[in-house]
Amino acid sequence: MFANRILSGMRPTGSLHLGHYHGVIKNWVELQTRHDCYFMVADWHALTTNYDEVAIIEKSIWEMVIDWLASGVDPEQATIFIQSKVPQHAELHLALSMVTPLGWLERVPTYKDQMDKLNHKDLATYGFLGYPLLQAADILVYKAGLVPVGEDQVPHIELTREVARRFNNLYGREPNFEELAKAAVKKIGKAGKQFEQLRTRYLQDGDGEALLAARELLAASQNLGNSDRERLQGYLENKGKIILPESEALLTAASKMPGLDGNKMSKSYKNTITMRETPEDVSKKIRAMPTDPARVRRTDAGNPDKCPVWQLHEVYSGDDTKEWVKAGCTSAGIGCLECKQPVIEAVVREQQPMFERAEKYLANPNLVKEIVFEGCHKAELVARETMKEVREAMGLGY
Ligand code: SF4
Repeated sequence: MFANRILSGMRPTGSLHLGHYHGVIKNWVELQTRHDCYFMVADWHALTTNYDEVAIIEKSIWEMVIDWLASGVDPEQATIFIQSKVPQHAELHLALSMVTPLGWLERVPTYKDQMDKLNHKDLATYGFLGYPLLQAADILVYKAGLVPVGEDQVPHIELTREVARRFNNLYGREPNFEELAKAAVKKIGKAGKQFEQLRTRYLQDGDGEALLAARELLAASQNLGNSDRERLQGYLENKGKIILPESEALLTAASKMPGLDGNKMSKSYKNTITMRETPEDVSKKIRAMPTDPARVRRTDAGNPDKCPVWQLHEVYSGDDTKEWVKAGCTSAGIGCLECKQPVIEAVVREQQPMFERAEKYLANPNLVKEIVFEGCHKAELVARETMKEVREAMGLGY
């Protein structure tokens, strides 16, 4: 398990907008400074719902990566790659599909939700049912310790953990497991004795603190390779070798980014401001936004709580501006166009560095391809190691 490793991805199914920036990418930019981040262009996932509109996928891939880079995702700090270019995602998905009961997939809450939401599409497909398992493979192939998700995606992480557990139970028992585990204990040196004592306390008395202490001891041990570490993680709890470690959800706050009509910003509501919208279009779109319907004339007082523009002030404005809006709106002291101006300026200000960072990639698209191909190569080296272990564990090591 790589406790500090993060896996996250986005589907390339159209232009990114400020909802994506505030909901996901801004968080990535922060996470990449503290974690070993793998950011994935989830093109296989795009196919699970857009299998009949493939042209949009290729077009969106490069634009999407430019948007990431423009937002401050740094290829020096994070690994950026395309899912389908790392074939081990598909391979592990297939391997896991052999041990995953159908019922586990059918009861993932988003399965029925998405079917209802996208009812104009035929999603009674094998690929769509299996997409949470593909997600599990995405995470497990890197042994990622953390996956940033919103509340609604937590069941997917639970499924990933269940699948990993099942896989480890089925295949984690090497024929000479005890022997290998004892040899690994010796490699810890003096701390080996302490590890054995903690293990006994946990196994005999159910002492949870001893379990935690033994885990910490393993994490701190410098002399262990990954394979031995995974073996000892299993040995500690009297299980087999942990081949696919269970990841944790890293809960992220739901995006509060409102769209131009007050609903959540979303392409399907046609209420978006794209990530690199020109200042003229930003201005045009915000100036055309609906306001409190009760404010028909300039002289009518309004109520910010009934106005979508206010929601944008909540995202973009400081306390002083918000006070100015509240006082001016409720007393008809300001007009709506006047009220919208600080929001327009804030959005343009936010996008300015994005335009600047995007410039060099737009001028040289090969630069983007190089970043992605380098990321794919790095990702594949890690994924290949996992698949080697998975194949051996499943008896396919020939
Ligand atoms: S003044 Fe501002 S908050 Fe009030 S209705 Fe107009 S746009 Fe909305």
